[in-house]
Amino acid sequence: MTTKAYGAHAADKPVGAIAIERRAPGANDVQIDIAYCGVCHSDLHTVRSEWPGTLYPCVPGHEIVGHVSAVGDAVSGFKVGDVVGVGCLVDSCGECGACHDHLEQFCEKGMIGTYNGPTPDAPGHTLGGYSQRIVVDQGFVLHVRHPEEQLAAVAPLLCAGITTYSPLRHWNAGPGKKVGVVGIGGLGHMGLKIAHALGAHVVAFTTSESKREEALKLGADQVVNSREAGQMKAHAGSFDFILDTVAAPHNLDAFTGLLKRDGTLCLVGAPASPHPSPSVMGLIFGRKSIAGSLIGGIAETQEMLDFCAEHGIVAEIEMIAAQDIEPSYERMLKSDVKYRFVIDVATM
Ligand code: NAP
Ligand code: ZN
Repeated sequence: MTTKAYGAHAADKPVGAIAIERRAPGANDVQIDIAYCGVCHSDLHTVRSEWPGTLYPCVPGHEIVGHVSAVGDAVSGFKVGDVVGVGCLVDSCGECGACHDHLEQFCEKGMIGTYNGPTPDAPGHTLGGYSQRIVVDQGFVLHVRHPEEQLAAVAPLLCAGITTYSPLRHWNAGPGKKVGVVGIGGLGHMGLKIAHALGAHVVAFTTSESKREEALKLGADQVVNSREAGQMKAHAGSFDFILDTVAAPHNLDAFTGLLKRDGTLCLVGAPASPHPSPSVMGLIFGRKSIAGSLIGGIAETQEMLDFCAEHGIVAEIEMIAAQDIEPSYERMLKSDVKYRFVIDVATM
């Protein structure tokens, strides 16, 4: 079925209106009429070929919410009209150790991303949520239990929410733990909300003085301007866990120095070029770790959505028309987003 979408035909071409084909729903498929799609920094990295391997035309978007408009014969958990979400994954092998452990994002045969992943569908790679409709295997569709009027602000949970929730849970952020969140953008502001809801003492690290007051309202107990050495030094050796969401290369030693013995700095930001190599001494003296984390599995994504519905957590958003995706990228590059752009798909 021909579907309106927004995408780019090359790395140096702007994101604009294009027509794409969606498959007719198969037995296990859920067809979704998309209402809203968040704009993740990964969309920009991909559509502009900042990371290797982008296939064109590229239709980004992996923070999708909408309504079910058709289901295949073998679909059991979803019916027409249901409010659903789709995140960064639309398929995996279902058989490897990672899939058995409900960690589809680490599928040993390669997870299928919501965009830029291999598929038998035209044009041979997946096309994402900057579009009016998507067809997804029922195993990769999530139930949304927030009130209908919050749906636009729920969309960013599908990537920014799970990408922060999963490591915060894995490294046991909670009461008695001091947790830092570095970079208060789309991911970081969700990190503040979720870490606060989990009961941790939360410190926001920002380069934008203008975000200080808001960071406190988002869930931070303290805010540090990471460019101010004095403010950083005051927290030396005190963190159990720091989650770094920054989308640009920067000095990691500044943050490993803030960890306690056995503390972990977890990187989720994925800059196009490497960070300067961290100091080994800074890790050895204190048995500290630098780790990474990739989104989360489907079961954990559902758990995160339900946790957020229960705690009244949604993203802080600025709604945009599809025609304004390119200007929103330029603002994102200047850290000028409070805190996630969401496309109103009705404007397509
Ligand atoms: P974003 O909204 O642009 O937020 C990034 C924040 O980092 C900015 O708001 C800014 O916060 C800070 N920042 C930017 N440039 C900086 C610099 N040069 N030095 C220090 N701080 C800087 O981006 P996002 O959508 O949250 O995504 C962040 C990164 O995570 C991207 O690289 C994205 O690809 C990646 N990502 C990874 C996963 C995963 O599974 N691991 C999933 C989704 C996204 P302040 O103004 O507060 O300083
Ligand atoms: Zn994302």
